[in-house]
Amino acid sequence: MPTVRRINEFDEQFKSLSDDELRAKTAAWAEEISKIPDLQEQWKKLDEILPEAFAVVKNAARRLKDRGHSFTVCDQPMVWDMVHFDVQLLGGIVLHRGRIAEMATGEGKTLVATLPLYLNALTGRGAHLVTVNDYLARRDAEWMGQLYSFLGLTVGCIQHDQEPDVRREQYAMDITYGTNSEFGFDYLRDNGMATTREQQVQRGYCYAIVDEVDSILIDEARTPLIISGPATISTHQYDKWKPLIEQLVRKQNMLCNRVASEAIEKFEQGDVETGGRLMFKVKLGQPRNKQLLRMMEDPDKRRAIDKAELSFYQDTRKEELFALKEELFFTIDEKSNESDLSEQGRSFLNPDDPNAFVLPDLINEFTEIDLDETLSPEEKDKKKAERQQHCDTQAERIHNISQLLRAYCLFEKDVQYVIEDNKVVIVDEFTGRKMPGRRWSDGLHQAVEAKEGVQIDRETQTLATITIQNYFRLYQKLAGMTGTAETEAAEFHDIYKLDVNMIPTNRPVRRADANDRIYKTRREKYNAVIKEIKEAHAKSQPVLVGTVSVEASELLSRMLKREKIPHNVLNAKFHMQEAEIVARAGQPGTVTISTNMAGRGTDIKLGPGVTELGGLMVVGTERHEARRIDRQLRGRCARQGDPGASRFYVSFEDDLMRNFGAADRMTKIMERFGLEEGQELEHRWLNKSVETAQKRVEQRNYLIRKRTLDFDDVMNMQREVVYTWRNEVIDAEEPRTHIYEVIDEAVPARVKEYFDGEEPNYTGLIHWVNTTFPLGLTKEKAQFETRNAEENTQFLLEKVKNAYERKSSHEEPTAVKGLERYIILNAIDRLWQEHLYAMDALREGVYLRGYAQKDPLIEYKTEAYDMFVELMANIKNEVLNNLFRSTSNLQAFENFLATLPQFLLREEGPTAPTATADARIRHPVGAMAAVGGDGDGDGAGEVSIDLPIRRSLPKVGRNEPCPCGSGKKYKNCCGRTA
Ligand code: ADP
Ligand code: MG
Repeated sequence: MPTVRRINEFDEQFKSLSDDELRAKTAAWAEEISKIPDLQEQWKKLDEILPEAFAVVKNAARRLKDRGHSFTVCDQPMVWDMVHFDVQLLGGIVLHRGRIAEMATGEGKTLVATLPLYLNALTGRGAHLVTVNDYLARRDAEWMGQLYSFLGLTVGCIQHDQEPDVRREQYAMDITYGTNSEFGFDYLRDNGMATTREQQVQRGYCYAIVDEVDSILIDEARTPLIISGPATISTHQYDKWKPLIEQLVRKQNMLCNRVASEAIEKFEQGDVETGGRLMFKVKLGQPRNKQLLRMMEDPDKRRAIDKAELSFYQDTRKEELFALKEELFFTIDEKSNESDLSEQGRSFLNPDDPNAFVLPDLINEFTEIDLDETLSPEEKDKKKAERQQHCDTQAERIHNISQLLRAYCLFEKDVQYVIEDNKVVIVDEFTGRKMPGRRWSDGLHQAVEAKEGVQIDRETQTLATITIQNYFRLYQKLAGMTGTAETEAAEFHDIYKLDVNMIPTNRPVRRADANDRIYKTRREKYNAVIKEIKEAHAKSQPVLVGTVSVEASELLSRMLKREKIPHNVLNAKFHMQEAEIVARAGQPGTVTISTNMAGRGTDIKLGPGVTELGGLMVVGTERHEARRIDRQLRGRCARQGDPGASRFYVSFEDDLMRNFGAADRMTKIMERFGLEEGQELEHRWLNKSVETAQKRVEQRNYLIRKRTLDFDDVMNMQREVVYTWRNEVIDAEEPRTHIYEVIDEAVPARVKEYFDGEEPNYTGLIHWVNTTFPLGLTKEKAQFETRNAEENTQFLLEKVKNAYERKSSHEEPTAVKGLERYIILNAIDRLWQEHLYAMDALREGVYLRGYAQKDPLIEYKTEAYDMFVELMANIKNEVLNNLFRSTSNLQAFENFLATLPQFLLREEGPTAPTATADARIRHPVGAMAAVGGDGDGDGAGEVSIDLPIRRSLPKVGRNEPCPCGSGKKYKNCCGRTA
């Protein structure tokens, strides 16, 4: 470790410096680096000075410690007592290199981050530290801030309730602490909503360190950040289907109960095979059926059911399986989260037309249409469009119903979600924390809202969205730290290009991890857990009990109350209180129950005498789906060389075991040992089979996240294009260049359309020109026939630009700039939001198309691309349309109108612009003025202009019924080539 040695040598040398001399190094380096223009070169410089710079930080830490520096953190008095250990220096180097440092809990990662943050802040481009909650952001900023301010750097901290002005100040600091969602939402607001530079708060994405990186980049990454606003369109039918689905679920449950009773009889008569077959049917129809869960405890029955399942999934029995499914109303697969209606179910929902829930076979239908010789090409297109439309409607209905079925059969209140203030709030399955503001996608959230009878949030629509992954990919350099990254190293590498480096602990680890104890039922398992807690508690050893759900925490708490054992339950509601409870969890005699310790960010120090008792005892009450989360829990004890012990309790009823356990193998074991009530299994290789199950789930979850990301990548590229354009417009000194760019691209494209047919469509062209620009062109004046497409384009470009110059010359120059920005931003924002909506729909749609043996991702990419091309063209056209319909100043507009030949206006002149909150800018007026292109007025009386009626209609959403009354969606009718 030559670098560590060099750091320590510098640290030795710096001891003789005065405070001011030490501090002066910061400014000197910052000055020097600011002269290097290129970021890569700046980074090279940072690499060079790393040993010295780290030494400065370490030296400063020692000074604070030596003089017993006292301060307050989150209103609590504190004294500085830390100087970086060598392993912490090592961690700092790894973070500076843009990697993940895996350092165990209690190794002092908070302090480690000060080294690379100091170093990277010297570029003056801002260094971000991302934490898991607001409390930790504030705590760490205030705590580590002692070092930064000593060294002359500024530090800020983003909190949920801050106003934009405050946020901007915090981002302007050298170093900024905050949570991933605050950073992410600020990004969305800055890039998707702000319309001026002044409204933006962030200043770039140079370097970030993500604390508890697994928690943030893996666990939290499954629900994207979404900013939503009032929706213009709503198509869901959850309300409509809810009563029927409720009945259907009830019927199914009754049916399954009946089948289960029948199975019991069969088992009693010794007909194990039929019994197993019947119970497998129950499993298909009601995976959480009570009888079923009970039978899974019994090795014979369990084996019979597993056997039935295995044999049905053989290829040769496909038809039989299908027939079995048809005996139910629907089937639901807990593992894959999928649901499917049977014939019976379909006729129950719609007795008159059970086919209302069958997706038509489009490919076949299209082929038939193509082969039909009696149809003209236009008729074929029309027919295909009709079939497509029909298919879309069916797909939407099926989707609604399938989401409702999932909501009823797989989602339980107080497990996956809670109801608060009449809202469905997601409970994070990993941390047990509520995640207000997050929503399940794909209509599932609305389905659960319908189920719970709370207000269905149909009123919202996505205005801006980004996945956490893609937010962090914005950073030029990203680093992370956590106690548990190793098991997910492949994912970090593939998705974030982050490599994991394991940092040794400061002192040898003395933790004793015991083998799992395995029970038949949950009840037996919990009894054993309580027994273990009681024993430890009797000798005052502190115990930390980890659960995987809020429900389990509450159950254990009730059991402990009965035993009169005082304890704390972490409810994940109040982060600060929670941190205090965690901090006290190592005191003698303390019992603490917590769902999932991942990302809690507070370490547990042992109280007096606890070391002699064996340190903190960690009891896991269930193996989590991810091994990482179990490691987090274990890692809470035996920090910094303390003693400690951990053990997990598992039952065959646990979700993990039911769904992914090596069911067959487990059943054999149970038989061999003939487990009695309350008996347990414990063996090294049993841990292995549990871990195999975990690995299987991890793999599956990784694939799901990867797939989500593959889809989001498409959006991400589009978002980048649109946000970059927006920012260029916002920043432009001369927004007119952007206006002209649009004119230069859109006009030729339109002209080309009119020249593309067999015969050039001169009338169409003249019509378009006159409804878009106030040129008052006549056939005679235009003389389109005398030029080819290219020449006509040039001719029109010149005329349009001339007219535009003339219009703006009547206005105030600075106001014009504002107006020009507004015209573009307004067009981008309005159409982009519509596009987001359409993309959502597309995403739902392609999944259904997946049934038609196509890869949804490829379908999605192709269509998304087409839609994006269309979007960009639409934005440009909208800009053209609004160029002459907007004014910064009513008086100026009237002056401009006065110059126009009045008789050219067929409808009434422009209506008074509506005043907006932003008085600087007026909204586009409803009608457009026309002016003879060169202003010579010779066109008097020659031409009448069609005013752009379409634009003055209320805006129609793509999925709304077409205003023409055809009954089709707008996008499939008049809105087809908007
Ligand atoms: P982690 O995030 O790695 O779990 P923390 O940053 O929360 O750990 O630090 C755990 C505890 O270790 C804190 O109470 C901190 O004061 C202490 N600590 C960290 N580094 C040092 C050090 N170099 N010397 C003394 N105490 C330290
Ligand atoms: Mg920490």
